[in-house]
Amino acid sequence: MAENSSGKAVVLRHGTVLTMDVNRQVLTDADVLVVGDRIAGVGPNLEAPPGAEEIDATGGIVMPGMIDTHRHMWQTAMRGYGADWTLTQYFVWYYLEHGRTFRPEDIYAGNLLGAIEAIDAGVTTTVDWSHGLQSVDHAAAAVQALQEVPARFVLAYGNIQAAPWDWTAQPEVRRFLEQRRDAADDRLSVQFAFDVTGDPTFPERPAFEVARDLGLPVTTHAGVWGATNDDGIRLIHENGFATPETVYVHAATLSEDSYLRIAASGGSISVSTESEQSAGQGYPPTWQVRRYDIPVSLSMDTSVWWSGDLFSAMRATLGADRAREHLEAHVAGETVTSAHLRAEHVVDWATRGGAQALGRDDLGRLEVGQKADLILIKNDNSPVSFPLLNPYGHVAFQAQRADVHTVIIDGQIVKRDGHLVGVDLAKARSAVESTVEYLRSSMGEEVWQAGMHPDLPSDDKVLDNPYTYTDFRTAATREARESIFGEAASS
Ligand SMILES: [Zn+2]
Repeated sequence: MAENSSGKAVVLRHGTVLTMDVNRQVLTDADVLVVGDRIAGVGPNLEAPPGAEEIDATGGIVMPGMIDTHRHMWQTAMRGYGADWTLTQYFVWYYLEHGRTFRPEDIYAGNLLGAIEAIDAGVTTTVDWSHGLQSVDHAAAAVQALQEVPARFVLAYGNIQAAPWDWTAQPEVRRFLEQRRDAADDRLSVQFAFDVTGDPTFPERPAFEVARDLGLPVTTHAGVWGATNDDGIRLIHENGFATPETVYVHAATLSEDSYLRIAASGGSISVSTESEQSAGQGYPPTWQVRRYDIPVSLSMDTSVWWSGDLFSAMRATLGADRAREHLEAHVAGETVTSAHLRAEHVVDWATRGGAQALGRDDLGRLEVGQKADLILIKNDNSPVSFPLLNPYGHVAFQAQRADVHTVIIDGQIVKRDGHLVGVDLAKARSAVESTVEYLRSSMGEEVWQAGMHPDLPSDDKVLDNPYTYTDFRTAATREARESIFGEAASS
């Protein structure tokens, strides 16, 4: 993958360039030159080598490829199925009831689709938080999918069907991880993914020791209401396993002590705002981790509920952070007149923040010598593409997946003029269809439907109203409301 798909240099001309360098320099009417797998120039009127492919970035935004530090890619095969779940329903479905039904080919199917989806959305590096690996055959299938898609991935090896101290002790798992570690390159690397329950005997110690032994980082779901808490953070920290490479996912329901420990050990937090907002891990924590100066990256968690694009992550994170800041102020009878979190901050977390979390100093910025992972956001057919006044605000609040015009990864064009290049979407479609068919038939229709439609709580009553209703509600709207919310709604 040293060269782009046509074997030529590429130059993007006349764009608004978000360099995401240390000064967050924004260049207008500027070019970005890619030669081989590196960025060879950033600035106005660059001279390009003869035969370089020219891409017109006029009216568009050129920025580093985005980095998602926590995706359960295998779950992409169940896209949207759990839209109405809570975390409890998710745990029951995957951890207790159906997660073990997934075969290696089902892991492959989800990963393949998730990987393609990432490219399409301008996500050039993804941590595959792969906790459905019941066997090394499942793990090999996960890797196979990641190798078929020309983007960067970190396989975070996990297994929710066994305790971390059990599966990490299996010789074949160790052999697999050693092989992956030794074969790792800047496109596909490996680490550990497991959670720490807070059991005072710290049974996870041997799992951390295996990771340390193999020289591989650990990522962990932390501060998840009802699942992981301050005790887990304290145990990781007190036992010397909190390192700068440790990525704490969610980190929502935690006390000051935990944030101080994370900050002091140099670790970072992966915030999945869409997830925390609707599943119940705790309030999306950026509004408070800012105070501890903990590095932040963004993630989308899983497509079984949510979208897989970081535009949504940036938007949701800005919204949640500002909502909390306003709410806290209002509770104190005060008014926020200037918000702390800016659009440029979430763009930074979606790019540099991810690179920093993964220890990839060669990613996340558009500077000469950096790896050539970059995207062009441009859609001349969209009424939302102009005027382009505030480029960070445009990325965070206006742009969408369909506006990702060009994606370059490792110097290779993988999306051109809005179309994926060299990616077999039909293969992913057929693999996912087989997986859905298999799961649905082995579960049976009733269980399948029940899983998708959790029971509504029965206490959804409209309050008694001392005022007299005018007759603006027609019978039809009353009926519609009843059909959605039940009889109680109209009483
Ligand atoms: Zn997760």
